[in-house]
Amino acid sequence: MKIKSIDPYTEEVNWTYDALSFGDCEDQIEKSRAAFLKWGSLSVKERTAYISRVAEILRQNRRIYAGIITKEMGKPVRQSLAEIEKCAWLCDYYAENAAGFLEDELVETEAEKSYVTFEPLGVILGIMPWNFPFWQTFRFAVPTLIAGNVCLLKHASNVPGSALEIEKVFTGAGLPQDVFKSLLIDSRTAMEIIDEDLVDGISLTGSVRAGSEIGELAGRTIKPFVLELGGSDPFIVLEDADIDRAAEVGVRARFINTGQSCIAAKRFIVVEDVVVDFIEAFELHMQELKVGDPMDEETDIGPVAKKEFIDSLERVLKDAKKKGAEPRVYGEEHKKGFFFRPTIVPAASTDMKVLNMEVFGPIAPVVMVKDEDEAVKIANSTDFGLGAEIWSADLKRAEHLAKRIKSGFVTINGRVKSDPRLPFGGVKKSGIGRELSHYGLKEFVNIKTVVIN
Ligand code: NDP
Repeated sequence: MKIKSIDPYTEEVNWTYDALSFGDCEDQIEKSRAAFLKWGSLSVKERTAYISRVAEILRQNRRIYAGIITKEMGKPVRQSLAEIEKCAWLCDYYAENAAGFLEDELVETEAEKSYVTFEPLGVILGIMPWNFPFWQTFRFAVPTLIAGNVCLLKHASNVPGSALEIEKVFTGAGLPQDVFKSLLIDSRTAMEIIDEDLVDGISLTGSVRAGSEIGELAGRTIKPFVLELGGSDPFIVLEDADIDRAAEVGVRARFINTGQSCIAAKRFIVVEDVVVDFIEAFELHMQELKVGDPMDEETDIGPVAKKEFIDSLERVLKDAKKKGAEPRVYGEEHKKGFFFRPTIVPAASTDMKVLNMEVFGPIAPVVMVKDEDEAVKIANSTDFGLGAEIWSADLKRAEHLAKRIKSGFVTINGRVKSDPRLPFGGVKKSGIGRELSHYGLKEFVNIKTVVIN
């Protein structure tokens, strides 16, 4: 089988690779296990020294890596550069803090001494998506490695160039051979690896469908797993909000990465008193979006990552129109490239697909509600629970509302952004477990209790 990378802007093939067979993977996993024996026995400080070097390499070569991201999945290059910077920040954060997070914890009991210690598990498989090809991988790999595990990466099939380049970042930073390895494989081979009980833990970022398949296999083989799945984040605007600011941030929150982000604001829920003003301000900011060549640093909206996404976005709009919506489209049209222009769906209703499924692309539905209670009801009326935004000048009121939203992350008067210092993950079908902060660092460790009498 071949793994092919296609440039969504030029529609040309970037690179083609032969996929590894299951037998190749077995050989690699044996080498990874051998590498684990040494890597896992280093001190946390020794491991973090390598990770500081990873940050340096990322910063030195940021333009090269950003270019590869953009060529493989179409992200505007300014955002690809920011993605690399963020990976370097993540490395700095764990390099500074991980030793403290992983210190033994003394617990007072009747025994002479009791404590909790954190030990690595072994070989952890990361199955990652294409939308933030570096960030998602680093977010999984850096804490997992620092905790003393070794990593295998099965990246999305459309970003093999990124997968190989990420491996080079780690080897370039001097990490021992086989501590981090990319496997160019399809999802069937990844499933076989889990089913044959060859790895000690799995971290998946991807769709709900993939999460449920991987979770089933991991459950069958009794392996710890983390699932970071989809989202359909509500963006609630109350009548006392700063409407212009909410609209400006809302445009960024929806259209970043051409709408292909799990924590994008996907449903704008606005109280009736301010809905007209909000839509007007939102459209003004939409008009400023520059749609075009993703390699141009001025571009805000590039093509979507795969050709087939255009059809599914069109189906969503068709359904909305059939149910009475009148979408409005902004930005230049392009004959070549997998473009889908930024679109607003004012007066969206909850029976429309645009509101009741996760839409992974640049479509912004706005639904009008009577009041705060109706806003909460609609916000919680999906299978997802990843992030949420609330806009109000009354912070007490907004905090109270935050408690009523079923999600893993709420931002008041701002945009949901992952941050190495804060735990990240969802509830309901958005996933299981947490990444980032000290919570993420402890997902793939043996929390071992030692009691001395
Ligand atoms: P997919 O689930 O299709 O793919 C994600 C990864 O999983 C890819 O590497 C894919 O490989 C692999 N995969 C898919 N099915 C299986 C399987 N049965 N067994 C093993 N591996 C599998 O998702 P998308 O690529 O379409 O990514 C978008 C989705 O990811 C959205 O739903 C989005 O919300 C979610 N996401 C969640 C994030 C979060 O942090 N919560 C962050 C970013 C995205 P291959 O490419 O070979 O099919």
